[in-house]
Formats: sequence, structure tokens, C-alpha cells
Amino acid sequence: MIVTLSETAAILASAQRVVITAHENPDGDAIGSSLGLMHMLRSLGKEACVLLDDDIPAIFSVLPGYDIIRRPDEKEPVEADLLVVLDTSTDRTGCTLAAVKAEHLLNIDHHQTNDNSAEYTYVAPGRAATAEIIYDLTRELPVKLTKDMAMCIYTGLATDSGFFRFSNTTSHTMRAAAEMLDHGVTPNVISEALEQKPYQTVRDIGEAIEMAELFADGHAAGIFLDEATTARMKSTESFIGMIRVIEGVDIAVVMKAKEKELCRVSMRSKGIDVSKIALQFGGGGHTRAAGCTLLMPFEDAKRTICEAISKAIWENK
Ligand code: 5GP
Ligand code: MN
Repeated sequence: MIVTLSETAAILASAQRVVITAHENPDGDAIGSSLGLMHMLRSLGKEACVLLDDDIPAIFSVLPGYDIIRRPDEKEPVEADLLVVLDTSTDRTGCTLAAVKAEHLLNIDHHQTNDNSAEYTYVAPGRAATAEIIYDLTRELPVKLTKDMAMCIYTGLATDSGFFRFSNTTSHTMRAAAEMLDHGVTPNVISEALEQKPYQTVRDIGEAIEMAELFADGHAAGIFLDEATTARMKSTESFIGMIRVIEGVDIAVVMKAKEKELCRVSMRSKGIDVSKIALQFGGGGHTRAAGCTLLMPFEDAKRTICEAISKAIWENK
């Protein structure tokens, strides 16, 4: 059932024990919005915790509350009044739904592809980040912003908007960020922490750039990592940003073979709706940033995604 922002605030206000979760492979928005909401609810005197069914990259240790994020455990379910799923539909949350016995389920998201499968769903595709919705909620509830909340919300805003450069950045995004600075955020402290990479990862970026291929007559660029390469490379997050800047490229794709018949796909575009391509394969996302999982061997997956991207490009001509 779709709810409004004020109804979302009322659902949060009426719960005492709240568990917060977000998508697997958590990014700055998933972690930032989760911890931001946790600090906010705690400041209102509630019991709130964050459970994420994945490893949390160490770069996010700059965020207050990073150390208390836990993994859900199906064998020891947690009881709560409310489970809040952030930055995804309820599907990409690992075992969290099974590991939390909650009376109510609230989903807060900014993805246009949200499937509205939760008991209560608030989706705002016009917001650059789920953290921007958490900011909106601080204005619906009697919350006094703290530096802890501000650092987490700022991180979500900054990472999902490409540090306020992507097309999803609005004046509202920047006003929200400005208010976070008023509450103690130092932008360079966050960006320097998030930009840090191990030496080997920087070398891997070099190797990945060497592997970049152009297709669809130069309108698309891809990096395709087979199973052995994927296993060897620890972090591949920054690869896509390296190829989306190539002149003439409308769609960039990074594909990683994680298992023999399981390939993860990330896409970025300059305007063509890549969420539609992702949806064809059961994935989703935004117009300009989307992803999906292909349950097929590396070569088949590579051909399949290249064909789908090429088709979308021709249809757009
Ligand atoms: P990324 O390429 O950074 O993993 O994801 C880009 C965007 O697409 C993010 O907003 C992410 O949440 C979304 N996305 C990525 N993979 C999937 C997927 O498999 N399913 C859905 N629904 N969204 C995805
Ligand atoms: Mn997000």
C-alpha cells in the first residue's frame, strides 16, 4: 500500500522497537540512510538498530554507528514493532525478512522500479537518494538534527548524486546538504574517507581500463570480468565511472561473473533508460543507473546484455 510522507512519519512515530535494513552490496546511500534513520529514531527515545545481510565496506567506518551494524541471523530472529527497508524493494535484503519478526513492514525508497510489495511503501523517485527522504522525515517529526545524523544523511546524498554532479541533483538535494553542513558535516572528511582505496585496487582499475571494450558502434562501453578475474579483484565499484566518460558512449556496463552461472550487471547512461534494460532481467534501478543479475554463464551473459544494450541504443536513435 502506497503511503504519503506524513503517513510514513506517523508509522515511524507509532513504533517503539524498529529494525532498519537496506539492500545487499550496500552503498553510501543504503548505509547512510540506514544509520541516519537509526540516529533519528534513537533521538526520539526509540530502540532502533541496523541489520544488513552483507559485508560493510571499511570506508564507511567514518560514519557514526558503523560499528553497531549487525548481520541478521535467521537462527536467532529479532522481534520488533516495525521493520523498515530502505533504498530497495523488499526483495534485495538477503535473509533479513526471515530474521526479523516484525508486526509491520515499511519500505522507503527512491527507485522508480520499486515493486510496492511491502505493507506500507513510500517511494519518491524525484529524490536523489533515500537519505534525502530521511532528511524530509526529520522535518515531519520532532527531530533535532545532530552531527551523527548529518554525517550519515550527507553521505547518502553525496554518494548517490555523484557528489552533487548527476542529473538527479536538485536544489532540494543541495539545500538538504547545506543543512547537514550547518550541523557539523565537513565535506572533505567524508569524501577523503570514501575515496580511499588499497594500492591493489588502484592497480586493478588500470587492468580493468585495459580490458574496456566498445560496442554498438562506439555508443556503448563495457568491462566484462570473468569468474577468475572477479574473484581476484576485491573492489570493482569505481570501474564504471572510468568508462562512462568515453566520448560518444551513451551506455556503460560492467559485468562480473560471480559464479559459474551468475553474473552481476551494473549500467550507467547519459539519458537512455537503463532501468528498462535491467527490468527485462528482473533487476531495476534508475533511468541513468541500474543493475541486474543474469543467471547464465559468462559468455552467454555478455552476449545477452550487449544485445539488450545495443537494441536500446538503436531504438533511441
Ligand atoms: P549499481 O550499478 O551501483 O549496483 O546500481 C545502480 C542502481 O540500480 C542502484 O540504485 C541500485 O540500487 C539499482 N540496482 C542495481 N542492481 C539491481 C537489481 O538487481 N535489482 C534492482 N531492483 N535494482 C538494482
Ligand atoms: Mn539510493
